Amino acid sequence: MVVRVEFDGRTLSVPVRWVRGRSISVVMTASGPELRTPRRVSTSRLEDIVRATAPKLITQIESWSAVSTDFYWRGELHGLILRPDLSTPRWHEAHLLSPNVEAALRFLRRSASERLISLTWHWADIMGEAHPWVGTGDFRSRWGSCTSRTRRIRLNWRLGMTPDAVADAIIIHELAHLKHANHSARFWEHVRSFDPDPEKSNRWLREFGPAVMGWPRPAASAFLA
Ligand SMILES: [Zn+2]
Repeated sequence: MVVRVEFDGRTLSVPVRWVRGRSISVVMTASGPELRTPRRVSTSRLEDIVRATAPKLITQIESWSAVSTDFYWRGELHGLILRPDLSTPRWHEAHLLSPNVEAALRFLRRSASERLISLTWHWADIMGEAHPWVGTGDFRSRWGSCTSRTRRIRLNWRLGMTPDAVADAIIIHELAHLKHANHSARFWEHVRSFDPDPEKSNRWLREFGPAVMGWPRPAASAFLA
């Protein structure tokens, strides 16, 4: 569902996400505005709420046209150049040339996944763990997870976009869960014997994570017409 309101002669469209609880909020996520609300709230009430935040949302969305198609790859900024004449994406110095955005995403995801899986096995060897099952996915809010019982690790393929040290830190964290399925002092002691400063990677993720998770940002025209 999408809530549409007219404001200052423009149409603002905000997708709805159903949540539990009672509170209603409009938030700007990495992929655009989102109205979070429990079900059973009247459409007119939701429209009033969107209208109240419209000036702020419109200012933010309008600033997007200045945002370039730059993206992080192994922690460095690269540019995406759309070249409809090409059949497949390819690197050219600091640029990725691609026939379209979707092909670029598939290309980046595939190369990141291959690298992250072999990196996980590399760290498993160092940490003295038998190779777990490793898969990658496109998660909106998490970088990795580990099910210690089944020895399955899932990594966000976008760790291919973060600096190598950040990908290492997440992989070490998830591998450490194979030994300790919690965040106890012993877990952190185990992590720190392979990554002495896990907080350093967290700082990078807090600062740049939203840009990495949200790339490529949808066109402003998806929300404002
Ligand atoms: Zn954890």
